[in-house]
Amino acid sequence: MAKKSLADLASAFASKTSGEGGNQTWKLFFNFWKAPVDSVSTVRFLPDADEENPMGFLVENLAHELTINGKREKVPCLKMYNEDCPICTLSQKYYDEKSPEHNEALGKKYYRKKSYIGEVLVVDTPIEHDQEQLVKLIEFGPKIFKQIQASFSSGDLEEAPFELKGGYNFRIKKSKSGEYADYGTSSFSPKQSDVADDIIEMMNLYDLKEYRTAKVSRDVLEAMLLADQTGGSFSGGDKEEAPSKPEAPSAKPAPKPAKDEGNGAEPEDTPAAPPATGEKKLSVVEQLRQRAAAAAAANGE
Ligand SMILES: [Zn+2]
Repeated sequence: MAKKSLADLASAFASKTSGEGGNQTWKLFFNFWKAPVDSVSTVRFLPDADEENPMGFLVENLAHELTINGKREKVPCLKMYNEDCPICTLSQKYYDEKSPEHNEALGKKYYRKKSYIGEVLVVDTPIEHDQEQLVKLIEFGPKIFKQIQASFSSGDLEEAPFELKGGYNFRIKKSKSGEYADYGTSSFSPKQSDVADDIIEMMNLYDLKEYRTAKVSRDVLEAMLLADQTGGSFSGGDKEEAPSKPEAPSAKPAPKPAKDEGNGAEPEDTPAAPPATGEKKLSVVEQLRQRAAAAAAANGE
């Protein structure tokens, strides 16, 4: 079931080797933030194809924003890949009150931003989207994540919300707080529901960690940082590996999820307690396998 289709593989590979404009990963995302204010988009979270994912259905993404060759670029925080991150080091230096270079604004500018990536079925939304692409990726900021965390700690969930049978839809409510969009009242549906069998048979699940901001070498990252700091140009060797996932393919200025929520700068290492879903997760993946096997048998393949 979790086997990727050729089309999925092709796009995953395209995102790794993209030359000019070759990065099509953004097409895989459901852009819930395009919804009008005071609307609701209902999605169903699905289990990560990666069974080792301790959160079961979400991965954390850590990125910095730099201005390179006059363009805002999202670059990976190397801590996400368990390496020392030169941009985090720079941010800390600016935040350090004892440092002669103390500068809160620059500390904030270089601070890493945290987001979360999951995969969903879009159940209902006012946004036009590609119905053919059944499973979509979704990326959101800490505010929606906190709502999800709160649901896990509330004791209201009878099953892991991403269970195909007896799980819960998630309602992304867009409201407005000042000039920013606010998703702080989003929540799981109070009612359990099932994903239809025919849908389950058609689903291809993504390995979520593959869609985090792609890793670049430390040398490349340092060169990018230098370009940002000096305004110099950057044409590093594997620059094309820089994750430039356009959040908004349209010309309209669309706020990025993290910024959207006006909450990019999370405190350092906030313990984002992963929802305790380890046991459930296996049963879902097991379920998927059995369904795939049953479907294959039914088709006489
Ligand atoms: Zn970093």
